[in-house]
Amino acid sequence: MQALRKPEWNDWCPGCGDFGILSAEEMAIKELGLDPRKVVLVSGIGCSGKLPHFMRIPVSGVHTLHGRALAFATGVKLANPELEVIVNAGDGDQLGIGAGHFVNAGRRNTDITVILHDNGVYGLTKGQAAPTLKRGEKTKSLPRPNINDAINPLAMAIAAGYTFVARAYAYDVKFLKDIMKAAIKHRGSAFIDVLQPCPTYNDINTKEWYEKRIYKMTDLDPVVKDVNETIDKMKQGIGRSYEWGDRIPIGIFYQNELVPTYEERIAANAPSYKTSIPANQKVVHEGKFT
Ligand code: SF4
Repeated sequence: MQALRKPEWNDWCPGCGDFGILSAEEMAIKELGLDPRKVVLVSGIGCSGKLPHFMRIPVSGVHTLHGRALAFATGVKLANPELEVIVNAGDGDQLGIGAGHFVNAGRRNTDITVILHDNGVYGLTKGQAAPTLKRGEKTKSLPRPNINDAINPLAMAIAAGYTFVARAYAYDVKFLKDIMKAAIKHRGSAFIDVLQPCPTYNDINTKEWYEKRIYKMTDLDPVVKDVNETIDKMKQGIGRSYEWGDRIPIGIFYQNELVPTYEERIAANAPSYKTSIPANQKVVHEGKFT
C-alpha cells in the first residue's frame, strides 16, 4: 500500500478555485488507476504553478519557467512516451507570455493534457488584467477598465490544432474530474479551459456570477468520426465557444482522434524512435495509493 504524500504547506487563498482543480486532478488520476511513478505534472509560474507541490498523490512534478510549461512538457513526453504528462498553468502564463508555445503545442498534437487555470487575472502579482479578462471589465486591482479584448481560449485551441477541447468549472469538481479523465484518455493534445474564480482579485467573475450562468451542454456532438467532418466540427465548436454572458456552456466542444500524434509523426520519420517503451522496461506499480 503506497501512502499519500505529505504535500507542501498550501498558501492559496481561502476559496480559491485552484483547490477544486487540485481535488479533481487527484480524483482523476486515482480513478483512472494511473501509476503515480508514470505521471508528471508540469506547471508554469503563477498561483497555479504551485499545484504539483500541493498534490497528495506521489507523482513527479516540474515547476518550470514563466510561459514555458508546454515546452518542458513536450520534452518530457518525447523523452519517455510512456509517461502521462499533465500541464497546469494560468491564463496569464499560457495565453500571455506562453502564447507561442500554446499554439505550437496544438499543431503538434503531442499526447499530453493541458489544464488552463482561467481566472482573468495575474493573481500571484496582485491582480493585473490577464488575457481572458473581457474588455471593459474593471476588477478591484485595476485603476481603469481593461482596454484589451479577451482571448477566447477554446477557439484558439481548436484553431491551433488541439484535438480535445473542453471547458469546465473549478467548483463543479465531479464534472471537472470527469472531463479530466476524458482528456487524459484522449490520444493527442487535450486542452481544458477551467473557469476558476479568484476571490482575492477578480470580484466580477465570482462563484455567484458563474453559478447563475453555467450550464452543461447536451446538444453538441463534438466528436469527429470521419475526416470529412473535421472543418464543420471545428466551426461548430468555435461558434459555440463564443456563447458567453447570461449563459455559459461547459463540456466538450471538439474531439478528433483521427489526427496522428507528434510521437507517431516522429516515429514515421525516424524508425528508431519508440512511441512506447518495451514491456520489459516498464515501471510496474504493485501497490495502491489511498
Ligand atoms: Fe487563488 Fe487568486 Fe489567491 Fe491566487 S490570488 S491563490 S488565484 S484566490
